Amino acid sequence: MPAKIIDGVKVAAGIRVECKARVKALAADHGVTPGLAVIVVGNDPASRVYIRNKMRACADVGIRSFQHEFPVDVDQNIVLDLIARLNLDTDVHGILVQLPLPAHFNIRQILAEISADKDVDGFHLYNVGGLVIGDTVFPPCTPYGVVKLLEHEGISVEGKNVVVVGASNIVGKPMALMLMEREATVCICHAKTRDLAQFTILADILVVAAGQPNLIRPEMVRTGAVVIDVGINRLPDGKLVGDVDFEGVKTKASYITPVPGGVGPMTVTMLLVNTILSAERRALGHTRFPERTAGAA
Ligand code: NDP
Repeated sequence: MPAKIIDGVKVAAGIRVECKARVKALAADHGVTPGLAVIVVGNDPASRVYIRNKMRACADVGIRSFQHEFPVDVDQNIVLDLIARLNLDTDVHGILVQLPLPAHFNIRQILAEISADKDVDGFHLYNVGGLVIGDTVFPPCTPYGVVKLLEHEGISVEGKNVVVVGASNIVGKPMALMLMEREATVCICHAKTRDLAQFTILADILVVAAGQPNLIRPEMVRTGAVVIDVGINRLPDGKLVGDVDFEGVKTKASYITPVPGGVGPMTVTMLLVNTILSAERRALGHTRFPERTAGAA
């Protein structure tokens, strides 16, 4: 029997309805409108598309967004100064720096400057550490979206063999940690993994985030496995595909996410969820860190 195709657009739409209700409640109970500041450096076309989608999604649920644009050769200190000001701005509940940044930037330094209380992407070391010990405030949006998709489909991860292909800081590693926290047995593969198929074939749940079209073929997948394709690849003919041979693998899997329309819409939606959560925490006085003074070390 062919796999059930998990409709990320539909699941995301349901979560956005909840987002709208939470935004209304914040306005009614606290007079607060959640705000997201987005920092963009340079003119990367893919980044532009992502930013446009994020701003639109914010507007759709009633979150205010503030875009800050810089030329590609901007001095890193100018961006650090802006982040310091945004940390103090009470209209801003989330700060997002669109990645990748130009080569002259020290990404660690930039992410460290963002207040952990406004780190809605979940990349600050404080939130990364929270993920390691199972006490995170803002889970990174893409793996968070995958967890929500699994929950929505009623797929339990407890005791399951999960294989995550890809070990990046923004997808693979946090994904593995979040599923381990939910008591899966997790294996992480990466570009140096020898004989990838010997690992993927053991997966009850296979999450693929490598950025390699057609990396996962049907013979690498166990019959009945759940396959989550995080990859987004643009082929020379302009077609958008994931990392999984969708047509082949869907005949073996029990569930599969399409690209586009699977994990992608969830990523943007979880950014909205994290921004609203940040505004709720501030309204209730649940932030963890005292305000830093702009420009302070
Ligand atoms: P990175 O390039 O940062 O990381 C890719 C990871 O995959 C690395 O750990 C790399 O291994 C591993 N890898 C690469 N080739 C292979 C291979 N042949 N076999 C096994 N592992 C391999 O990418 P990201 O994590 O940022 O993104 C991964 C994919 O997910 C991309 O296609 C990206 O566009 C997409 N993406 C989708 C999102 C969504 O919302 N749907 C959001 C974010 C990303 P090593 O560490 O050894 O180099």
